[in-house]
Amino acid sequence: MALWEQTPVPEVFRYFEELAAIPHPSRHVEKVGDYCEAFAREHNLTYRRDEAGNIVIWKAASSGREKDPAVILQGHLDMVPATEEGLDFDFTRDSLRLVIEGDHLTAEGTTLGADDGIAIAMCLAVLADDQLSHPALICVFTADEEIGMLGASALDMSDIKADYMINLDQEEEGVITISCAGGVTCRSVFPVKSREESGKALRIRAAGLKGGHSGAEIHLHRTNACRFLAGILKEVSDSMDISMISMTGGEADNAIPPMAKAEILLPAGKETAVMDLLKEVSDKAVKEIQNYEPEVQIGWELMDYSGPVSEPAETARLLSVIGSMPDGVQAMSQEIEGLVETSLNLGILRWTGGELTVTHSIRSSVDLSKRDIMKQISDIVTEAGGTNTFSGDYPGWPVRSESQLQNLARSVWKAQNGEKMRVEAIHAGLECGLFSHQMPEMDIISIGPTMVGIHTPKEYLSISSTERVWYFLLELLRRISG
Ligand SMILES: [Zn+2]
Repeated sequence: MALWEQTPVPEVFRYFEELAAIPHPSRHVEKVGDYCEAFAREHNLTYRRDEAGNIVIWKAASSGREKDPAVILQGHLDMVPATEEGLDFDFTRDSLRLVIEGDHLTAEGTTLGADDGIAIAMCLAVLADDQLSHPALICVFTADEEIGMLGASALDMSDIKADYMINLDQEEEGVITISCAGGVTCRSVFPVKSREESGKALRIRAAGLKGGHSGAEIHLHRTNACRFLAGILKEVSDSMDISMISMTGGEADNAIPPMAKAEILLPAGKETAVMDLLKEVSDKAVKEIQNYEPEVQIGWELMDYSGPVSEPAETARLLSVIGSMPDGVQAMSQEIEGLVETSLNLGILRWTGGELTVTHSIRSSVDLSKRDIMKQISDIVTEAGGTNTFSGDYPGWPVRSESQLQNLARSVWKAQNGEKMRVEAIHAGLECGLFSHQMPEMDIISIGPTMVGIHTPKEYLSISSTERVWYFLLELLRRISG
């Protein structure tokens, strides 16, 4: 017996199982696109496929629903390819090996791709069923969401007209997402005056900090290792002539760096004095953050060095520039308690003798505030003789004060499951931002069944939750009106 036949919603899992057999990691969504295209043809549905790999499928309203406003159902085609260590698995060729364990659907040794294959499966199940009551539907399947929402960014929305949109890229049942942040990456480059020097040097390491996601965890008072180490070195450089050899920290703009390293050349004859001062300053700095960063450690070792260094005055000046850039939470939402509205994170720092590069991730659910931070950073950078470039700009999805779709969703969920829905806004990007930016009048919500461990080989999907969210979706489509 096929796996889908063992579930309480075979009409949905049948498509999920078929999708899982087709490789579809990010950047490789052609085959899954072919599959959706064949589906649309087989069901005589109008569809469009574009160069980015997106697929849009239209279905007319069921009889009697022609006057109701159209609804977009949306999910993404690609999945994050992650495998357990040592597993021989080729994500561009191999089919996922699905397993049911009690209520959990998983894939052996790999990500499951319930994020966001279950959205596509539900949409196909809706499109395939001619007995359902629904308004005109537009199913939008986007490509390469997981690597920067590339599909949705490239999607031509001029022929996509709807009053409502239900995004199905949510990981928890009973939760309704109503807003997300927009963001942009800012890379600042400073030329550095350097010269050849040699002498005693110190290799310094600040480690053991918690780090974390620059959206989801920016409000948790986590110390940024790059800023922490730069602050200590700045204090030392205020009274001693140290020369930066190199400094590095962070791997991605959207992660709070847990570790940073630096190498500094010590002034001849004052090696011990610098080391004493460094010890004093770093002991004090560690004490200041120890309550919330208990694992923090600073260590150093002495070495001989010969090569390019940043001059002492340059070193002091640039350390102070790093410190003067805003970082962390800048504003909290006035509408939703506990939601970070605007933040930025210094994610990557690279300093060699001749150049300093600093990369920030800036986020805000209010586009104006995002632009404000961009301006603040570029003013500081320009003033300090550097230049900056912005990339990967994506819009936020602002909170809507009046939403018929939210009200309907809340009452349907309560009636079906006896519990209130939790309303949530997130400080991270969603494709909804791109849709709301182009169609500001559209009423959008994001929902989905419970899945755990997404983007890891431990990912699983709750089958009973999928069943509940499926009937929830059908009831929304049955009752949605103008
Ligand atoms: Zn997703």
